Amino acid sequence: MSTTDIGLIGLGNMGFQMATRLRETGHRLVVFDARPEPMDRAVALGAVAATSPADVADRAETVLTSLPTPEVSLAVATGGEGIIHGSRVRRVVELSTIGAQTARQLSALLAERGITLLDCPVSGGTAGARNGTLAVMAAGPEDEFGSATPVLEALGRPFLVATEPGAGQTMKLVNNLMAAATLAATAEVMVMGVKAGLDPTVMIDVLNAGSGATHASRDKFPRSVLPRTFDFGFAAGLMTKDVLLYLHEAAELGTPTELAEAVARRWEATTASQGSDADFTTIVKPLESAAGVIVDGRDDRRNH
Ligand code: NAD
Repeated sequence: MSTTDIGLIGLGNMGFQMATRLRETGHRLVVFDARPEPMDRAVALGAVAATSPADVADRAETVLTSLPTPEVSLAVATGGEGIIHGSRVRRVVELSTIGAQTARQLSALLAERGITLLDCPVSGGTAGARNGTLAVMAAGPEDEFGSATPVLEALGRPFLVATEPGAGQTMKLVNNLMAAATLAATAEVMVMGVKAGLDPTVMIDVLNAGSGATHASRDKFPRSVLPRTFDFGFAAGLMTKDVLLYLHEAAELGTPTELAEAVARRWEATTASQGSDADFTTIVKPLESAAGVIVDGRDDRRNH
């Protein structure tokens, strides 16, 4: 059992599952979220409630953050009641997807107060967070990576991708462009197949037995699209943010982006029609509307 307090700020889809996992693996947690509801649920898990990010950073040397946007991550770390005002904090482990530029900016601002940033985005969704099976893409000094490793190993498989902050974000954006593109492509082909008269459940089974299998066909469609639950646990607005961050970084590097641009248009159309809080698996819905079909794999529908 660890006796060191770990701070965790942001108890949303990912953060709350990570809190559950960290409690189960014996970590003492000090938590903060802007919403009272997940705070109450975290206290029920045995976490200690803090009153602000600075309060978390007064009580823990290592502070993890899992926040929605680059702007929120910057405000939580460096704002009026931000982490930088804490007396005990030595390292911030930024688990959010904020882009390389913001990670470098955050690292420089924290360094002015003697705090190290471990740029550490994750992949594997809420199930990965809950089960401790995330891919953890750390970038930062090797000794800080070593200090954080026991916590990171509770969350999943840690990789030190580079020693400069920002590189973890680049790796994460590469990963998420692939996830965004394959979900968009799977949605498009499923709508086409259903329009042609194929059964969507059979289609997914065949894709998963063949070379068209992706994470979207193996997990997202069976779990959230075919049953029409649209509850995979990642907001369409956050996926759109990640795709746009990828495009921004690729443009700065001058690498080709034709596919990424098409993927971005599809995600922007999804958030425009479904709302940014809608689950990202709703990407299929505007395509269904355009085609006049539904990718419905529920047994009751098929038995009718
Ligand atoms: P979320 O919107 O569900 O959770 C964000 C949490 O931050 C919310 O509980 C919100 O109340 C809290 N918050 C917002 N502003 C705050 C503030 N100023 N102070 C304190 N708390 C504040 O988002 P999520 O899906 O958990 O994602 C978090 C991060 O992880 C994002 O960067 C996302 O891109 C990334 N991510 C998400 C997934 C996923 O599957 N959901 C997977 C990998 C990475």
